[in-house]
Amino acid sequence: MIDDRVAIDAGSLATSVSDAQRENIRDVLLTHAHLDHIAGLPLFIDDLFANLDEPVRVHARREVIEVLERDVFNWAVYPRFSELRNANGPVLEYREIGANDEFGVAHLKIRSVDVNHKVTSSGFVVEHDDKSIALSGDTAEMDAFWELINETEGLSALLIECAFPNDLGDLADISHHLTPDRLARELDKFRNKDCPVYVVNLKPMYREMIIAEIRSLRLSSVEILEVGRIYEF
Ligand SMILES: [Zn+2]
Repeated sequence: MIDDRVAIDAGSLATSVSDAQRENIRDVLLTHAHLDHIAGLPLFIDDLFANLDEPVRVHARREVIEVLERDVFNWAVYPRFSELRNANGPVLEYREIGANDEFGVAHLKIRSVDVNHKVTSSGFVVEHDDKSIALSGDTAEMDAFWELINETEGLSALLIECAFPNDLGDLADISHHLTPDRLARELDKFRNKDCPVYVVNLKPMYREMIIAEIRSLRLSSVEILEVGRIYEF
């Protein structure tokens, strides 16, 4: 969640937003269509349905929008909100983004880059005024992402995934995720060694193990993002 106004991914969007956030969030930027990144979207729109005076705008790659329309908002799993209107107009609007795109979302400027996950997935650089942060989304080893963020001046923070512990390297391979050892190799590609790095998307079952392995790497500037805490960059 950025500035209580733009959601990046929607895994817990319906269940963990405050009332104020629910009133303000009308832009949702999706990294990819896996369930843990979209699960809250149908109920978020449903909860707001009658009261929306502008649509919820979902910004995503074409492939991600196709999955939402085919597999979620397909009338069988949930109503096709993109075809529905309330008294004020449409309730869901898609904004297609490109692989290496630059676009606005609410007050933010976004640059997108494809990352290396099992399905079409984007990483983002999010800018507002002179501040910017980068987010990898779910991914395995990457190159284009590092090229993009290495050329971004004054990055305030990098949020990067680490889903599995080192022992589950095979599973990380199959599902295109990082482990702590791979994360360390990835961070070697990041030239801005002073930029704070926050690790996200740890699989809950392995959280403590992953944290212990990351700490044992003794990487400077790297910490685990605390869920529920407000960070100011
Ligand atoms: Zn995923």
